[in-house]
Amino acid sequence: MVSIKAPRGVRDILPEESWKWAFVLKTASEVAQDFNYKEVHLPIFEQTELFARGVGSTTDVVEKEMYIFEDRGGRSLTLRPELSASMVRSYLENRMDQRPQPVKLWSAGPMFRYERPQKGRYRQFWQLDFEAIGSQDPYVDVEVIALSVELFKRLGMRGLDVVINSVGCPVCRPVHKEALQKFLEPHLEELCPTCRSRYNRNPLRILDCKNPTCRAITENAPKTISYLCPECKEHFEGLKVGLDVLGLHYSIDNRLVRGLDYYTKTAYEVISGDLGAQNAVCGGGRYDNLAEAIGGKHTPGVGFAAGLERIVLTMEQQGCSFGKEPSLEVFVVALGDFERKEALKLMQEFRIEGISSDMDFNGKSFKGQMKLANQLGAACVCILGEEEIKAKKISIKDMVTGEQVEVPKEEAVTFIKKKLTE
Ligand code: AMP
Repeated sequence: MVSIKAPRGVRDILPEESWKWAFVLKTASEVAQDFNYKEVHLPIFEQTELFARGVGSTTDVVEKEMYIFEDRGGRSLTLRPELSASMVRSYLENRMDQRPQPVKLWSAGPMFRYERPQKGRYRQFWQLDFEAIGSQDPYVDVEVIALSVELFKRLGMRGLDVVINSVGCPVCRPVHKEALQKFLEPHLEELCPTCRSRYNRNPLRILDCKNPTCRAITENAPKTISYLCPECKEHFEGLKVGLDVLGLHYSIDNRLVRGLDYYTKTAYEVISGDLGAQNAVCGGGRYDNLAEAIGGKHTPGVGFAAGLERIVLTMEQQGCSFGKEPSLEVFVVALGDFERKEALKLMQEFRIEGISSDMDFNGKSFKGQMKLANQLGAACVCILGEEEIKAKKISIKDMVTGEQVEVPKEEAVTFIKKKLTE
């Protein structure tokens, strides 16, 4: 065992799991195509300022959770904690306002947050991120929600609930904030220390605190949707109409305010009863002021991010199918110098034909090679003995039935192909 271990809160995704990830990523890419979202690959680190200004300096993510470092040129860089800010940065920098609007993008990759690790919560985790930038239309919010629901449906996930809310905009939010602070003032001493510190800076977040005392206090707190300005109200109505048109079931959660400052109007989550405390499979909403916050022109946008680890975890718990696990089709057994050369050639022939194949590279005995074929889960074994080679034949053993036949060498590929489709 090596004494150096992976840092706390990160995981290795080993082959037993990585094929499941590949299935989810492939499904995401198909859904993206059907909803006309194009894939982008963005940098894993950005200028710290992007997140400090975009995500909001009083958010937990920016205050406590970012991996910030200085590069050799003295620049402050940050490992991205989320993707929306990078997406909008890329939209602005690459003048995507010149393209047909909204620009619909998606991406998948690792995010980094210095959080307390627990089930479904890691310090490096993957997100699937979908963003539609350049439209105010509430039907784009509907589309984004529908896309996430469709993704989870295709993955076979069950028991998911869509919860929505509207957190207003810079016009109506201050009015709500004042009402909320007034409501909370008499209870200030009873709130948990985190919420007490949020009271002045970010009282909205007190609404989604999990502490039972805080929850009891905020039970009848002023709701954001009771304070929406006419524009936000109309937008929220539009969102509900669109969801109804699609027959998408949802409920309104007045506590849903989400952790990042940039959200305006729509906030939503898809939650799973199977995930415990970290129950959000995906979360998102509208961020009409993000572009301006990072120094661009006003550009409305809406999107969501889904945690890949949480998707896989939920699917495993629900016994969902990840498709067929890729498996080895042929193992070539050969002893001796000459036979091994023939085996190399045969294996190459198989591989070129798209038949997955492998052989022993550790000088194992015949028995050892058969055992290895078994351990690797090979569907068949091709045996290349001295006699077989002389007779230009190959012995092919079906590892499930144990049946063994001799086949002329030139027919091996056709024979195996037919066998594999049986
Ligand atoms: P957020 O960017 O905080 O809105 O999170 C969006 C989604 O990313 C969540 O719903 C989770 O599925 C996932 N997520 C967020 N933080 C973590 C984490 N620390 N570990 C694993 N998944 C996470």
